[in-house]
Amino acid sequence: MSKKIVVLGAGTAGTIVSNNLRRHLPADWEITVIDRDDDHIYQPGLLFVPFGVQKSSTLVKSRKKYITAGINFVMDEITHIDPEKKEVKTKNHTFTYDFLVISTGCRIAPEENEGLMEAWGKNAFTFYYKEAADQLRLRLKEFDGGKLVMNIAELPFKCPVAPIEFVFMADWFLKKKGVRNKSEIELVTPLPMAFTKPKAAAVFTESAREKNIKITTSFELNRVDGKEKFIESVQGDKVKYDTLVIVPTTIGDPVISNSGIDDGIGYVPTHHNTLKALKHDGVYVIGDATNVPTSKAGSVAHYEADVVVFNIMAEIYGAKPEEIFDGHSTCFIVYSKGTASLIDFNYKIEPLPGKFPMPKLGPFSLLKETKMNWYGKLAFEPLYWNVLLDGKHLGMPPTLVMAGKEVG
Ligand SMILES: Cc1cc2nc3c(=O)[nH]c(=O)nc-3n(C[C@H](O)[C@H](O)[C@H](O)COP(=O)(O)OP(=O)(O)OC[C@H]3O[C@@H](n4cnc5c(N)ncnc54)[C@H](O)[C@@H]3O)c2cc1C
Repeated sequence: MSKKIVVLGAGTAGTIVSNNLRRHLPADWEITVIDRDDDHIYQPGLLFVPFGVQKSSTLVKSRKKYITAGINFVMDEITHIDPEKKEVKTKNHTFTYDFLVISTGCRIAPEENEGLMEAWGKNAFTFYYKEAADQLRLRLKEFDGGKLVMNIAELPFKCPVAPIEFVFMADWFLKKKGVRNKSEIELVTPLPMAFTKPKAAAVFTESAREKNIKITTSFELNRVDGKEKFIESVQGDKVKYDTLVIVPTTIGDPVISNSGIDDGIGYVPTHHNTLKALKHDGVYVIGDATNVPTSKAGSVAHYEADVVVFNIMAEIYGAKPEEIFDGHSTCFIVYSKGTASLIDFNYKIEPLPGKFPMPKLGPFSLLKETKMNWYGKLAFEPLYWNVLLDGKHLGMPPTLVMAGKEVG
């Protein structure tokens, strides 16, 4: 065996898995991680940018700086993946591998939504990437009343709680600005409820009702009309807006579909529990690039990284990969500048109330708006840069822990 591991993408998942692999593998295993640029963005911070709570420039750091010594970091565009030949092509090089980890994430594709590009930056905005979040900040600065609509174009999309956080933060922001009584806020989602999980959706819906935020469900976006300022569903329902904030259609990176290894919408068919690519030997998939039915979230990428490292090690030592991953996801949900909630769940177990991570002590409360959860959300950023990206554990297993949760 040539002892080569290639990791595609050095975002959240690729950085964590590479650093973790380097820590566990002997030095004769060569690890190469490839990304198109050197800008690692702390994406959860993008939520705060439109409200002036965080500057976008503080969210970007050099990828190289967070990749451990002893890993080759290559800056190049990945152009083709050939799992049969065990080969990856970039614009400038060809790499062979024994194990491949695909962590190319996903991206929003506003060009896929009819009419959206004509309205883009005029009355339709997003906060899902840095420049757009800044543009939305300028729009909200000028906003002095009217109808603010947050729409999710299509499933799946990245960070399913972010649109809910956005409307809660908008309520806080417009109150602070003194224009809340002249404004309407509406969340328009293709989901049959406010969130993917019914119990948490009921809690979020009640919070939205208290904040006078309207939620329109089961709305499958057909088109955006930026001239007349409305969105229209496939069924012909219309929602009018003054300012539209949208999570456009989200797709996997084109290199996945161009290499013919996708599920039809750019994600790699992945075993839900081993995280091995279903159709290709020696290939693991992690983070937003998978099609596993859990949230596309950084916390998930972190939990998955432990499983992928374990299973690559198992295969190297001649054992079979184990079915460890349970869809575990943990997310703070910001309610205002100063309060947040927290959810912890997996494929089978819905978010439950209780304390996290320590039973009875917390300090964080599940499915409950508290100040302490807000401090947790803030603390997460330095933790991300200094501990999590390094592939370190916080003494927690990658799978859901029931201790501290109130069942029934
Ligand atoms: C607004 C917002 C708020 C969020 N809030 C939270 C939160 O509160 N909590 C949470 O857990 N998660 C949150 N997330 C989601 C989280 O940031 C992502 O799920 C996570 O970053 C996924 O990691 P990844 O490595 O799979 O993808 P990414 O971090 O996006 O990395 C993918 C990498 O692959 C590279 N790449 C892709 N294709 C190619 C190619 N062809 N050639 C070269 N390089 C390539 C890209 O450049 C990129 O660096 C949020 C996301 C957004 C947008």
